[in-house]
This record gives sequence, C-alpha cells and structure tokens, in this order.
Amino acid sequence: MEIVPVPAFTDNYLWLIHDDLSGETAVVDPGDASAVLAEAGKRGWSITQIWNTHWHPDHTGGNIAIKVATGAKISGPAGENIPGRDTALKEGDEIRLGGHVGRVIEVPGHTLGHIALIFHEDGVAFVGDTLFAMGCGRLFEGTPKQMYRSLQRLAELPEDMNLYCAHEYTLSNARFALHAEPDNRSIAERLSRVEQLRGQGIITVPTTIAQELETNPFLRATNEDEFARLRKDKDSFRS
Ligand SMILES: [Zn+2]
Repeated sequence: MEIVPVPAFTDNYLWLIHDDLSGETAVVDPGDASAVLAEAGKRGWSITQIWNTHWHPDHTGGNIAIKVATGAKISGPAGENIPGRDTALKEGDEIRLGGHVGRVIEVPGHTLGHIALIFHEDGVAFVGDTLFAMGCGRLFEGTPKQMYRSLQRLAELPEDMNLYCAHEYTLSNARFALHAEPDNRSIAERLSRVEQLRGQGIITVPTTIAQELETNPFLRATNEDEFARLRKDKDSFRS
C-alpha cells in the first residue's frame, strides 16, 4: 500500500492509502474534503472507502462531501456518531483495502469510542488522536485509566510497526518529553532532530513503536497514576 499525507487545517494529517493491484483508495479521517479530493485527483486515484478513528469534526467533516463526490463507503467506530457511516466497526472487526487486511482495536480515552486500525502484514497502524509521536491525545471523554490501557495495547504491537497519527504535534510533544524526562538522552537527541525537521517544514510522522518506547513518556509510564500525572502536566505545559 502507498500512504500519502494530506495536510489540512493547522496541523492535521489526513492519510490517503492506495492499493495499486485493486485500484482501491481509502482516506483516514478526512476532516477536509477539498484537500483530500484534490490530492487524490492529482494522483488519478478515486476514493472508494473512508475510515474514521473517532467522531471529532476535524476527522469526519469531509465524510459526506467525499461520499457524494465518489460514492465511497464510510466505516467508523460503532460507539460514536459518524456522519454517513455505512459500516459500524468494533473490536476485532476486519477492514480491507484490496488484499490488505486490517484489524480494529478499541482504544478509548481521547473519545469513548475511539478505534485504531492495525494492518499487521503491512506493518502499519492508523491511530488517530490516541498516540502521537512523543505524546498522546487529550482526555476529552475517557479516564486516565482507559487511555493508559489503550496506550499499553498499542505498546504491545511489533516494534517495527509504523504509526500514522492524525496531527503534527511532535515538536511541542518533544519539548514536554524532555521536561518530563530530563535525563533521557534518546529524547534529547530526538528533540534536536525534530527541531531540524520542523525548521525545514518536514513531516515527522509516521513514527514507530520502537521509537515511542524510547522517547514517549506517556507510553513509558509504568502505571495509571504516573500516566495521569503526566497528562495533567502536559495539559498546562507551555513550551
Ligand atoms: Zn480528536
């Protein structure tokens, strides 16, 4: 599968996924229809599927316009209100793009019905606003306990799995990470790499489980209380 970021709003990435063999194209979390349709059109791809990780408008706002324009089928979490949804996804369900098979896992915390899509054979996971490079999503609906468990489930994925998250938050996350773990050399080194990349406007996503296990304080937290403290600190942290 070929995976292309479509930047939208200030810091969202909408992910276009194309399978050459079947000619199918999916888009993950299309908050903005026009940006997605323009990029797909430029590449000669026609969108056949829309996959949502959660209901937030910056992830679903383009659903209906893309469906009207392309006839794409919409799959999204069963537990949330998803515009135009055709298929309700829950834990263990399968999604397919041509011959590529993904599994749904439920990762509540950022929202209560949030899901992630895991393509084990491709080594690719779409994690929405649950895990970010060096950070994690805010707890808008769920509890720290739920989010901690959700992150721990992601941490159990193979270390070389590529994680596609929905925002470019890496620089501010890296600054907080160093504040949380001032003696962690891997974090300090990654912060300087990220500063360089962002200085040149270069994307820092996807990340990998291996990188996150070394440099993401939220994934490295050893219990719920530690996680809850970190999340609370981050909410008021100004880098
Ligand atoms: Zn969100």
